[in-house]
Amino acid sequence: MPVYNAPLKDFDFVLHDVLKVQDGSTEGYEELEREFTAAILEEAGKIARDVLAPTNQAGDQQGCRLENGVVRAPDGFREAFDTVREGGWIGLDCDPEYGGQGMPYVLASAVGETQSGANMALAMYWGLTHGAYSAIHVHGSEDQKQTYLPKLVTGEWTGTMNLTEPHCGTDLGLLRTKAEPKGDGSYKISGQKIFISAGEHDLADNIVHLVLAKIPGGPDGVKGISLFIVPKFLVNEDGSLGARNDLSCGKLEEKMGIHGNATCVMNYDGATGFLVGEEHKGLRAMFTMMNEARLAVAQQGLAQAEAAYQNALAYAKDRLQGRAVTGAENPDGPADPLIVHPDVRRMLMDQKSFVEGGRAFVLWGATLIDKAHRDDDAAAEGLISLLTPVLKGFLTDKGFDSTVQAQQVFGGHGYIEEWGMSQFVRDARIAMIYEGTNGIQALDLVGRKLASDNGKHVMAFFESVKAFIKDNEGDERLKAGYLDPLKQASKDLQAAAMFFMEKGMKNPNEALAGSTDFMHLFGHVCLGLMWARMAKAAQEKLDAGDGDRDFLQAKLATGRYYMARQLPATGMHLARIQSGAEPVMALEAEAF
Ligand SMILES: Cc1cc2nc3c(=O)[nH]c(=O)nc-3n(C[C@H](O)[C@H](O)[C@H](O)COP(=O)(O)OP(=O)(O)OC[C@H]3O[C@@H](n4cnc5c(N)ncnc54)[C@H](O)[C@@H]3O)c2cc1C
Repeated sequence: MPVYNAPLKDFDFVLHDVLKVQDGSTEGYEELEREFTAAILEEAGKIARDVLAPTNQAGDQQGCRLENGVVRAPDGFREAFDTVREGGWIGLDCDPEYGGQGMPYVLASAVGETQSGANMALAMYWGLTHGAYSAIHVHGSEDQKQTYLPKLVTGEWTGTMNLTEPHCGTDLGLLRTKAEPKGDGSYKISGQKIFISAGEHDLADNIVHLVLAKIPGGPDGVKGISLFIVPKFLVNEDGSLGARNDLSCGKLEEKMGIHGNATCVMNYDGATGFLVGEEHKGLRAMFTMMNEARLAVAQQGLAQAEAAYQNALAYAKDRLQGRAVTGAENPDGPADPLIVHPDVRRMLMDQKSFVEGGRAFVLWGATLIDKAHRDDDAAAEGLISLLTPVLKGFLTDKGFDSTVQAQQVFGGHGYIEEWGMSQFVRDARIAMIYEGTNGIQALDLVGRKLASDNGKHVMAFFESVKAFIKDNEGDERLKAGYLDPLKQASKDLQAAAMFFMEKGMKNPNEALAGSTDFMHLFGHVCLGLMWARMAKAAQEKLDAGDGDRDFLQAKLATGRYYMARQLPATGMHLARIQSGAEPVMALEAEAF
């Protein structure tokens, strides 16, 4: 059975030596002392290893079952969920007014990686719950907050997000689910939603569905969409559960991965719903949930890559095949371990350099969210809004690739279910699709985020990269290995942005044909920046004789690998972008 161990040393290094969260520069960060975060993450790591991971493979094999309208989650999921619930983990960063612990998001984010890495299908049940909490917390009425938030924070009730319909996925303007006013302040919700994660299950007493629907007579398209709370059980005045609402799970989807998470067709047959926020402003409210979900999904890509890497590494050290070309390294054995072979090293280094860089990127993103929310910092808000599609699209595309690399290390055994490597690949695949496909993330980045506020946020990003390089260029140990490649990659990104500005105005296809390349180019620059920052931190610690020397030397070497072997991809992406729309759009649809 595959194993999972939380990367505690790496969390500690990124949080305290790279991001320096303990310096109190953001409100609430003064609590994040090294010993404190270490204790929390150690405990989270134990739960991930001992409680969540052991149900992962069994949950994949058993899957969810629909029996007489009731969805049963895999055996062991309820008990594992109870451990998380009872430990107060779901409300770690939630508002204390509703029972949360009020911790910074960056800490909850690190905890989230351990849960997603150990059992993604299970962690989704409370991941979506947290999303529902946030949407109601930001947009709900006081009454709605009092009714739903305390139960979502404890995890006694779970949440869902209901956007997708059979004919309407990316294009939400096509949505047909209807919400008719009942005259008592509530609405009658009718329609069908598909692909609803955690839509029905036996892991919680109630399920709070957040449903997008149209009120008849409202504006056409996305402007006419409103958001509703539609609970599985209506809630009485005293907070107790009342009548069962008119909604049901019509079918469970058979799917490629995340078998332990129930993906449901949800039928709303005149169910009672309650408007969240204003009429026709539902998309804005749902976006609170989706932006949070996008970061969590970015982390799913990373977390699956980390889990797969850990197992690939152990296998590469254990499996004996062939001899090192430079002479036997295990002369007493029949062969050398796989890890002696340069091509196996390449695969492991690709994975290691991705997951460590990706982790720093996600946690940096989480600090921006904290800054935006806790300090009302508009610059941080603008930057994280720009980076969200990059985080989601790049980390899930690369995270999936990374799980495939890990599977490859196992050779044929990677393809056999028994080893569990196929599950990492299958589970990671969905992260590229839901919460807005990665193509749509790229579109959002190039079509909206890049030019938002007259390009102010992307300019600020470029300036911060430039300033980091300038401040550290004097250190010869950083210059050639880290800063020069970062400078080149950043130039490539600027050239791509310039190309879009010059050409995309006249013909938007010139920009959109290069949008996925741009998202990847941007992702590489972000990871390059993270590696340069990590190299600086590692070097400083080595100079001070502080910390684990082997760990720090390995950081420097892994960073050099990323810069030498991954970052040059920016040149390829730029060349593709600069080839413009013609090669992509040359054929008429009939000519395919
Ligand atoms: C396992 C699973 C769980 C899910 N969970 C949820 C959930 O909890 N709640 C929920 O509401 N939904 C959920 N979804 C739905 C998911 O978010 C959608 O499948 C996704 O948003 C894409 O919509 P679609 O499948 O209709 O694809 P389409 O919108 O039909 O897109 C098909 C392809 O065309 C591309 N495309 C579409 N429009 C454009 C465009 N304008 N420009 C460029 N490319 C475009 C897309 O990128 C994609 O590659 C889930 C799906 C799955 C499979």
